[in-house]
Amino acid sequence: MSHHIVKLNTTPSELNVREDAWVIEWPRAGAKGGNHHHTYGQLTPYFKALNEGKLLGTRCTNKKCPTSDAEEKIWVPPRADCPDCHARMEWVEVEKPEGTIYTYTYVERGGYGLEIECPYYQIDVRLPGVCTIVKGYLLNRDKKIKIGDKVRARFRTGKEATHTCLDLSWELV
Ligand SMILES: [Zn+2]
Repeated sequence: MSHHIVKLNTTPSELNVREDAWVIEWPRAGAKGGNHHHTYGQLTPYFKALNEGKLLGTRCTNKKCPTSDAEEKIWVPPRADCPDCHARMEWVEVEKPEGTIYTYTYVERGGYGLEIECPYYQIDVRLPGVCTIVKGYLLNRDKKIKIGDKVRARFRTGKEATHTCLDLSWELV
């Protein structure tokens, strides 16, 4: 076990596809507890993209939307419908998923079911062009970090993919 890079304590979920929507089946509560079934519905493209090494967000299609003039218009994680005007959103790629640490917490002991190996930094990331603050975890844990440090997205793809939000993580630049 590396002391420098955070690992996950998880097994990949079973993946079903129903009409383009991913449905994950995941034995969260162990063999006796049965499977946890969860569909990503219209947000499926976000999870597919993570496994292709890409970060997708959504943008409002309504030109009259109160936030359509804003410089930062992309929502990450995505929303199927605009939270401001309820219009349908469109998919856009965050071309260069590099940003800065907005705030962080050092987690020494996780709660029941946490699949991230402790200790680790839980971080909030500010990305150019994105109007939301993106929550995630930092792979590095051997250094002191500070607000404003630069980070870039890392993705779990192929056999490493968990098909969950854990497939997006961050590393110090
Ligand atoms: Zn809108």
